[in-house]
Amino acid sequence: MDRILITGAAGFIGSHLCDRFVNKGFHVTGMDNLITGDMRNIEHLLPLENFEFQHHDVTEFVHVPGKLDYILHFASPASPIDYLKIPIQTLKVSSLGIHNLLGLAKDKKARILIASTSEVYGDPLVHPQSEEYYGNVNTISPRGVYDEAKRFQESMTMAYHRFHGVETRIARIFNTYGPRMRLNDGRVIPAFIGQALRGEDLTVFGDGSQTRSFCYIDDQVEGIYRLLLSDYTGPVNIGNPEEISIKEFAEEVIKLTGTGQKIVYRPLPQDDPMQRQPDISRAKKVLGWEPQVSRSEGMQKTYAYFKNLPPGELNKKEH
Ligand code: NAD
Ligand code: UDP
Repeated sequence: MDRILITGAAGFIGSHLCDRFVNKGFHVTGMDNLITGDMRNIEHLLPLENFEFQHHDVTEFVHVPGKLDYILHFASPASPIDYLKIPIQTLKVSSLGIHNLLGLAKDKKARILIASTSEVYGDPLVHPQSEEYYGNVNTISPRGVYDEAKRFQESMTMAYHRFHGVETRIARIFNTYGPRMRLNDGRVIPAFIGQALRGEDLTVFGDGSQTRSFCYIDDQVEGIYRLLLSDYTGPVNIGNPEEISIKEFAEEVIKLTGTGQKIVYRPLPQDDPMQRQPDISRAKKVLGWEPQVSRSEGMQKTYAYFKNLPPGELNKKEH
């Protein structure tokens, strides 16, 4: 049985990856310090024989007993309000954390895939973004703690690949959504759905002309799974190229929820990227992958999930 370590296991994407690898017959060790994660995302896995959980901060020395074939490094605060609230931890998890995990990969001769991000392209001057684009990141802005840490993480990963021969994979993940996101994590999809469910107006930042391209979680998991098992070492964009402005998206959410809310405008956060759309030619070519779930189908599933949360969840304040 192949053994895999998944960091950030109790988070949104990490927990779905745990499900996938458990279902594929891997032995999965999930690791998380629960700083933004929630044990409820993986509690259904705890009784299984091929799943175990380690409560651990990956910025401290990481120890996994026995053989290890694969590592997925998904631990990191991922929403702008999280990484603005915990900036030092955000920098540490993609620097000290990746150093520990690359050391572990080297020691165990395991293949490691890192969760990088479209944020390595910053506020892009090239559109859509292909893997060849070097990016436009403001290192000293409040967002810089996330973007620059992820850029460092990619460099460290390539250094271990070139210098130590570690087998590495780099997924550049674009905005991904679905069940198990935190309702109040500040990201636009839970924010809009939460506001609609509470009967509040939807807060569009800036004039809403900035764009994003939203990928449903099942497509994301499939892309990561294929990348891990592929032979490709360079970075690969995994995202859905269907692009929409945030204002139009707010209108879609109002239609979907049928709540008749209004849109209200709030200031645009500093260095909020104006446009974002993945060029996924590489993923299509090397992984034979492209998204299968339309925004309308994915949003219906996501809305159903949030609507069915226990009533107390809706009004819960963050941290
Ligand atoms: P999330 O906040 O739901 O999950 C992150 C998990 O990492 C949490 O469970 C958290 O407790 C854990 N964690 C954070 N620091 C840790 C540490 N030092 N030690 C151990 N565990 C730690 O976020 P997510 O959306 O699931 O994102 C997962 C990964 O994917 C992140 O690396 C993120 O940067 C990347 N990513 C996500 C998106 C997206 O749209 N969701 C886009 C690009 C990249
Ligand atoms: N956004 C918004 N209203 C909200 C939350 C976010 O208009 O209540 C905007 C935000 O300014 C950004 C886009 O939605 O332009 C996506 O934001 P998110 O935090 O989901 O992700 P990221 O900026 O990291 O892509």
